[in-house]
Amino acid sequence: MNNFVLVVVILILIYILYKDNVPNPNINKKTAKVLVLSCIDPRFTESLTYNLSKTIHNDYDLYTLAGASLGALKKGWDEVFIEHVDIALSLHKIQEIWIVDHLDCGMYKNTLELETDLDRNLHLYYMDKLKNIINEKYSNLIVKEYIIGLNGKLIKY
Ligand SMILES: [Zn+2]
Repeated sequence: MNNFVLVVVILILIYILYKDNVPNPNINKKTAKVLVLSCIDPRFTESLTYNLSKTIHNDYDLYTLAGASLGALKKGWDEVFIEHVDIALSLHKIQEIWIVDHLDCGMYKNTLELETDLDRNLHLYYMDKLKNIINEKYSNLIVKEYIIGLNGKLIKY
């Protein structure tokens, strides 16, 4: 067997061994830098996880609520969100909260009875409201605002 064939056979074996390899959980990890608040919309799941792996290298707690910022402001859901912030602080010593809205959000359109929510200022209005509430309660947490556009790109505001 020549070297080329040997290399191809080794690569095929490596592929077979690792193609369905699930990453092990990082059992020893004790902290997370960020608590990410995102929407439940499955159309944006892949772009969200891609963007978060590129920006904070998966160093985050993930909390999802329909509408993200709008959901966290909804009566009843607001208290549950704050309870999770407390838990993320106590368990993982988070330092930041990232509010991640996305455009074309069903929760936004249904709740606010809108045809479209593509105006980013609409999202920024509610994201700012939530940011102010978080800042008032947690002066030591940095709050950042992001919107995922229809192209899947995460833009910071
Ligand atoms: Zn949504």
